[in-house]
Amino acid sequence: MTEPADAAARRAIPPVICYPTDTLPRPDLALYRRARDSAGKTGETTVPAREAATFRVPAGHFFRISSVQGPQVGDLNLWNAHDLSERFYSGKTRALHGTHLTAGHRMWSSFPTLRPMATITHDTLGWYGKDEYGGSVHDVIGTRCDPYTGNLLSGTQYHHCCHSNLTRALADETGLPLSQAEPHVHDVLNVFMCTGFTRDTGQYFMKASPVRPGDYLEFFAEIDLLGALSACPGGDCSSEHSSDTAACHPLLVEVFAPAEGALDGWTPPPVNGYDRSHGR
Ligand SMILES: [Zn+2]
Repeated sequence: MTEPADAAARRAIPPVICYPTDTLPRPDLALYRRARDSAGKTGETTVPAREAATFRVPAGHFFRISSVQGPQVGDLNLWNAHDLSERFYSGKTRALHGTHLTAGHRMWSSFPTLRPMATITHDTLGWYGKDEYGGSVHDVIGTRCDPYTGNLLSGTQYHHCCHSNLTRALADETGLPLSQAEPHVHDVLNVFMCTGFTRDTGQYFMKASPVRPGDYLEFFAEIDLLGALSACPGGDCSSEHSSDTAACHPLLVEVFAPAEGALDGWTPPPVNGYDRSHGR
């Protein structure tokens, strides 16, 4: 392949941010944090190692995902509690906020609703930033570990990948058979996972998560949510996933309700305003 004469000049063109976020509706984090100060715990769910569990969070309540016992990453799915077709849209969230999420970022829903489902209000790993490899925490670039890719690459039949864990948990929660629950499972927020792209080949990499017991990621539910969280069989994802060889630990999900009146002035976000006529 020969380079054109102006190759260097073409490469030197500075990038343009695809989606400048200055017009993105901003969450009132100060209001959320004041409401959180007065909130009381209403329930908790323990996600066993190499399994998933579901939980429900009413709009205006908070949920916290905590590391307990040892370093562990979690794969998070979110749905509208009343309509499984509205679900977390990892790709658009990545396009809006970047490859990794932290406090102030939001988890956006799929088309045609495209609205915030949850807002991250607290991240005890916010100090990590970006490391020398370009790695950071809580990514929306990985999809979820799944048995199909494992089979493709090494011919395995492994049943405790996050994809399968989430499928079983959703089936148990909804009563749907596995075959009908599976298509609702979607690309995740990789809670506590430390990932990036290699600079030379652009490949997705993972490394040992900096999470320690006591660390947590906390969210404000913008709409009524059904969540499912898988304690990934990769454990802290320092070596491999999709097998039973990594040390794995449970994760804890807690739900908190704000005090009466603490959210005065707040309303759940409406569905997206596009008229859906698509030019016809
Ligand atoms: Zn996984």
